[in-house]
Parts: sequence; structure tokens; C-alpha cells
Amino acid sequence: MVIIEPHIHMYSRTTDDYQRMYDAGIRACVEPSFWLGASRRYAGTFFDYFNLILDFETVRARRFGIDHFAAVSLNPKESEDHVLAKEVIDGIDEYLEHPRCVALGEIGFNNNSREEEYAFERQLHLANERKMPVIIHLPHFDKVKGIELTTGIIKNEGIPEHLVVIDHNTEDSMPLARKTGCYTGMTVYPISKLTPQRVSSLVKEFGSERMIINGSADWGISDPLSLVKVVDFMSRDGHSQNTLKSLLFDNPSSFYSASPKWKPEFDLVPVDPREFQR
Ligand SMILES: [Zn+2]
Repeated sequence: MVIIEPHIHMYSRTTDDYQRMYDAGIRACVEPSFWLGASRRYAGTFFDYFNLILDFETVRARRFGIDHFAAVSLNPKESEDHVLAKEVIDGIDEYLEHPRCVALGEIGFNNNSREEEYAFERQLHLANERKMPVIIHLPHFDKVKGIELTTGIIKNEGIPEHLVVIDHNTEDSMPLARKTGCYTGMTVYPISKLTPQRVSSLVKEFGSERMIINGSADWGISDPLSLVKVVDFMSRDGHSQNTLKSLLFDNPSSFYSASPKWKPEFDLVPVDPREFQR
């Protein structure tokens, strides 16, 4: 089965991970911008990071047979420094225009603060102006408050809902997220976030339409093969191959297809490592 990983931070992963992902059938991925673990102090550091995930990471993934795209944004965790946030958002256009940039994200709330709201609203508006897909991150705590604020901001902006994925849903946020016409994302982690079991139950309850699943692997305890574990568990838990194909291929593909730059190649062949060693 060919799998699309629609949200993963490969910047923090090794080449072994790319090899394991390829072997498991993952053939395309999207890397949203994330918080690096230490806050950046200069707008230029953001812009260099955008270049890195758009240019270098794309080439690195291709060597391992995976077609890699990226999404750029100022992450919610980085919006507290208002002067810096404004400078980054003011300068983000050229990265949104990059041929490998298929979405804006991730944006949204972390602590539901006023500064986060400013960065969220401005960037959502940029996505709406360009009619490009946008990845919205729900806060890790107080998800109900987070989803209420988030859906209010989506409504105010009037962005077409098929351009939006509301990500990192749990049992708490899903009922409200499904009331919108947005795509709804679920993140599978080994310890925190969702397990394959919980994803399986949520799909039984809410259906597979507009549902997207991701592994979101980063520096923390996470797993670039989460989606493969989801396929294994859900097949045993009574879901059809058609449902699995919708969740792990068709839905992420139709979401990113709103960008004309989303033209993944699923038949890339890994390069012999001796050819790119220096
Ligand atoms: Zn993420």
C-alpha cells in the first residue's frame, strides 16, 4: 500500500528513518514548519530554516525514494515576541511562492494568547488570499477551548473549508471539528497523543470522509512509522482496504491538491548511497 505522510518533521530525523519509511511504503510526505526546541531570535533564522526544509530536505528525501514537500509559517509557540513575529510574517511571501511549498502551516493556538491570535489571523489571511491549503494546530491542552477559538477565527476569515485541516484532534475536539467542513487530522504518537486503537475508534464513530492521519514525528518520542502501525491495527480491527486507502492516500492527496504544486511522484527509486557520499 502506498502511503502519504501528510505531517512529519523530517528535519529532526535521520537517514535511517527515510530508509525505513520507504521500505514500509511511504512515498510522499509534507513537512510543516515547527518550533525547533529553542526559540529563534532573528527573522533571518526563520528564513534560513524555511530554505532548509524547502530545498535541502527535499533533495535528501528524494535520495531515499520519497517525494518531500513543505509548508512554511511562524509556529504558534513563536508568536509571543510580537516584533519578531511581525517581521517573519512580513517576509514570508517568497517562501510561500517556493515551488516545493504546498501549504501554509502549522499555525493556530498553543496557549490561546492574544499574540498567538495575531499571528494566526494574519497567516490564515495570507493562505486565503493565495487559496492555498493551511494546516491548523490545536493546542495540546484545553482542546475544547482551542477548537472553539479556532473555528471562530476560520469563520471570521471566510476561508473555504476544504483548504483547511484542523490537526491534532482527540475525542474531546473531534465532535466540534467535524461540525465544520474542514479536514480533520489525528496524530499518532507512541506515548502521548493518539494510539492506533483510538484512531480506529474515532473513524468508526465519525467516518473516514475528510479524515487525515499523521505521525508528525519530531525530536520527541515519536515514530516515523506510525502510519504503518495504524494500517496494521485498523485492518485487524475490521476496517476495509478502501477506508484505509481513503485515510492514508486519497484524503491527504485531495487536501494538498488545492495547491497546483502538489504533484507527488510515487515511483522514485532510492539512489545507491555510494553515489552521494562525499
Ligand atoms: Zn507538527
